[in-house]
Order: sequence, then C-alpha cells, then structure tokens
Amino acid sequence: MKVRTEHIKQAVREYAFVEPVSAFPILQEMESAGECRFTGPVQVTVKACREMDHYRVEGALTVPVQLTCSRCLCCFDNPVASRFTIFFREGVAAQEDEDELELAEQDLISTCFSGDEIDLMPEIAEQVALEIPVKPLCAEGCKGLCPACGADLNSDSCSCLIEQKPSKFAVLKDFKVRS
Ligand SMILES: [Zn+2]
Ligand SMILES: [Zn+2]
Repeated sequence: MKVRTEHIKQAVREYAFVEPVSAFPILQEMESAGECRFTGPVQVTVKACREMDHYRVEGALTVPVQLTCSRCLCCFDNPVASRFTIFFREGVAAQEDEDELELAEQDLISTCFSGDEIDLMPEIAEQVALEIPVKPLCAEGCKGLCPACGADLNSDSCSCLIEQKPSKFAVLKDFKVRS
C-alpha cells in the first residue's frame, strides 16, 4: 500500500489497494485480543497529489468486521467504512507546524514520511482501529442477558427480572426517605 512520490509530484493519481488483515500488526492484535473478527481484506481507494509542502492523500476504506455484543454476547456484522484525508510531510515535521495544522483543520491527519515512497499501511490500520467500538452493541436498545438465568432478553423472557425489580426500587425508596 505504497505511493511513489515521483508519480504524484505533477499530477493527481488514483490508487486502489486490497490488503489482507494479516498485513496489519495492529489489526491482528485486536483480533487475537478478541475485540473483533475481520472477515475479509481491507480495501482502500485513494487520490494522492502534491500540495505545496506536503502530499495530500484522500480516500475511503472498507473492511468487513464481526463483533460480539457486549450485552447479549451475540455475533453481528459491523463493516467498517470510513473516509479520511491525510497530509504526509517529508522528513520530521516541526511540532509547531503539526499543531497549527490540527487547529486549522481538525478532522485532517498530518504525519511524516521519508524516502521516495509514502507507506499508507500504518495510517490505514489506525483508521480501522478507531472505528472498532470498545463496547460493541448489536443494537442501541439491546436488552442483554438476564444476570440471574442467562436468558437472552431480546428473544426470550424470564421471570427473574420481574421478581428482582420491585425489591431494588424498594431499597432505593427507603434510602431516599432517610437522607
Ligand atoms: Zn446485543
Ligand atoms: Zn432470568
């Protein structure tokens, strides 16, 4: 997933990349930590060009992802699709420059590269990682599992919660009265 700078010095070029998740160490780590499961390759299309003192890489990425709901433990598909704009500067950019850029255009990413190629892999991996929720939910209103009997409350009903709720409220009421 590399762009040769000599190809984009004079003209805007478009690229399409398909890369297996095994090529991204960060994503592999997430998978082995059980945070998610990638069910296909990372697909990226970008438009790259030179712009003043930096290279501008603008594009979109998609990757099919399976997550485990943090409430009901079901597996569900949650493909990542995101758009990005990254500025690549040659060499090590001064810290102030980066700060200024971030203040001016907050949703844009600025990073550095050296040599005659821009490697998109680290930035793409980061983009994907950002899109994976820490506490995935299969649906906004997922009811989760019953803590007492383990029934999936999205599809089953059990009598545990009905019995538990009144007593919980009763405790709360007593507490309020006293304070
Ligand atoms: Zn769920
Ligand atoms: Zn139950």
